[in-house]
Amino acid sequence: MPGLDEGTDPSADDLVQPFQIEVSGLRGRLVRLGPALDEILSRHDYPEPVARLLGEAVVLAAILSSALKYDGVFSLQTTGDGPVPLMVVDITSTGDLRGYARFDTGRLGAATGTAVTELIGDGLLAFTVDQGDFTDRYQGIVELSGDSLADCLQHYFRQSEQIDAGIVIAAGRPNGAWRAGGVMVQRLPDAERKVPSSDREDDWRRAMILLGSATTDELLDPGLAANGLLYRLYHEDGVRVFAPARLRAACRCSRDRVADMLGALPRDEVEDMKEDGAVSVQCEFCNSTYLFDDAQLEAVFA
Ligand SMILES: [Zn+2]
Repeated sequence: MPGLDEGTDPSADDLVQPFQIEVSGLRGRLVRLGPALDEILSRHDYPEPVARLLGEAVVLAAILSSALKYDGVFSLQTTGDGPVPLMVVDITSTGDLRGYARFDTGRLGAATGTAVTELIGDGLLAFTVDQGDFTDRYQGIVELSGDSLADCLQHYFRQSEQIDAGIVIAAGRPNGAWRAGGVMVQRLPDAERKVPSSDREDDWRRAMILLGSATTDELLDPGLAANGLLYRLYHEDGVRVFAPARLRAACRCSRDRVADMLGALPRDEVEDMKEDGAVSVQCEFCNSTYLFDDAQLEAVFA
């Protein structure tokens, strides 16, 4: 692999960059999102705290899905009793990313903070992998706790997988457009065999301290490439990068899929959905609207 220096290639956005810290053998993943995230968030008129929270959820989904081998769709969902009762993010194994949030404007105005427990309320973070055959469905679920989605995920790893994980995430609009970044370092059982256990603890603590030194500005800075950020964090210990995976904003909805969905419903129920002579179906992910007039409905039920 080429030597890692403080590269600043700004085109290196919308990717997952796996890496390894040479001294300790600890593995990690960095996610950088620029245009893809801006496209996802800009299709809706989200209040600032909702957009930021959904941006963080998108980073989390990208980090988590990249750690799994699957062929299908990874989906992350939060549900709760707060002003943001639902967020859904999904990502295909080829890197197509989409997501949406539901929110209650009135209750959002009354919220006093931006902690997940404030915005989502009492609730759950869940993720699944759908490989199409329903036989290989990986599911993780954890109660929401702490201030951030990163806290919730760390909690999940400790509780369910007994893996230590350090995660930092940020989403924001440094130059008007939405961006997000995140880094996760995991302590996996097979990664550190060669090292004595006392050193392992030191390595882990050191990796966590360095991870914690990543600032929101650095995570979001469009002028600081993914490799440049890793170099800043871990250059003293040596950091090796592996082939990155590309991400893009892409919705899987289509007129044919909507027609199939309508066709599976009782016809009188669909007729009741008509307004101004047509049935209108809106995709929650990308906000595309699909209209079906009488002739088109006739074709759906033909
Ligand atoms: Zn769509």
